[in-house]
Amino acid sequence: MLIVQKYGGTSVGSLERIKAVADRVAKCVRSGSRVAVVVSAMSGETDRLIRLAAEIAKRPDEREMDLLLSSGERVSAALTALALQETGIKAMSFTGRQCGIITDKAHTRAKIEKITAERLRKTLERGEVAVVAGFQGISSEDEDVTTLGRGGSDLTAVALAAALKADLCEIYTDVEGVYTADPNIVPEARKLEKISYEEMLELASLGAKVLQTRSVEFAKKYDVPLVVKSSFNDMPGTYIVKEDAEMEKVLVSGVTYDKNQSKLTLLGVPDRPGIASRLFSEIAGAGLVVDMIVQNISADGKSADISFTIPRTDSRRGVEITRELADGLGARGVDVKEEISKVSIVGVGMRTHSGVASKMFETLANHGINIMMISTSEIKVSCVIDSKYTELAVRALHEAFGLEKAA
Ligand code: ADP
Ligand code: ASP
Ligand code: MG
Repeated sequence: MLIVQKYGGTSVGSLERIKAVADRVAKCVRSGSRVAVVVSAMSGETDRLIRLAAEIAKRPDEREMDLLLSSGERVSAALTALALQETGIKAMSFTGRQCGIITDKAHTRAKIEKITAERLRKTLERGEVAVVAGFQGISSEDEDVTTLGRGGSDLTAVALAAALKADLCEIYTDVEGVYTADPNIVPEARKLEKISYEEMLELASLGAKVLQTRSVEFAKKYDVPLVVKSSFNDMPGTYIVKEDAEMEKVLVSGVTYDKNQSKLTLLGVPDRPGIASRLFSEIAGAGLVVDMIVQNISADGKSADISFTIPRTDSRRGVEITRELADGLGARGVDVKEEISKVSIVGVGMRTHSGVASKMFETLANHGINIMMISTSEIKVSCVIDSKYTELAVRALHEAFGLEKAA
């Protein structure tokens, strides 16, 4: 059996934890499996490196950021290989480049184009453990170090599992699996035995950082068998699987939230064709990704307010663009609200059951929480609310949809 195991930041957060990882890997090897290990940077390390860069440069160059950030994962990989060698297991660590993880050149959010994994295959064939520094690759064009976006070691693991045709990809983290809500916010959250790729994809993209969104997309596309487990115990984790008939019976599988968005409003623009088109083509032209959009027409029907959300890190740029457009159009102005959060409910059962959205709105209303924006898809409903109510909203929705564990 060939297994790819990924250990996140907390799981390699200290030398003690790295030794525990080595013991777990060693056990698996001794039971006859071949193992490739992907490691994240030690917990807090990537953020520390980002802070260092921010102290030295106002707008750090992304190429240099990638070389800097990739170093965190390299430290963990080498230390893990050393720890394995200490337990008597033959192991070798590799950077993204040495694994042949080839990406485009979109620094800090590169996409994987191809994986050769030649060195890994040879290492595994010799019966040795290959330890891979996660989160990184090398650009096909310039051979520069790239990184795969925050949480990107999950993608390294899934992509390697696909390339190596592994029998299983295990994501080891600091919780026991995927829960009905973030267990650190909702103590009553229940661990799911299994969840469909579609639902996991929605949960991840709507804020549940337990798996990186792109890693789930990749796993779905290449049918990678995926399980999320704790590196702190031996409890069974959550399997990410293809949807089955039973899953549709459950209305809502999970509640999640995202506090990393800002809401911008272009106020009092003339209500005529072409305005939204101009606004959003300029926003898109600057590479900003818009999530929700709401337009309100004034009572006299002559002007409109257009609100939209973008990632908070792009707030300043978004305001600059919108303000310029507002001046050109004779609009009343631009309003920014950063203290917002998006709470969402996800479940394939919504496809076949009505009344799920209205129950969500009613629950929020009963708690005095105002909804600023709404968006829906086949298997999710999201509401933008004031961020100070995030935890309250998540707990209330979790309870309203009966997601808590049995007493
Ligand atoms: P790692 O460093 O192992 O990659 P992350 O911090 O990226 O770990 O992801 C694990 C965290 O995801 C958990 O500690 C938990 O707080 C958070 N989380 C958010 N939503 C969920 C959820 N629905 N189920 C499980 N964990 C969740
Ligand atoms: N170390 C990187 C991050 O913190 C990648 C990862 O942990 O998956 O985003
Ligand atoms: Mg993570």
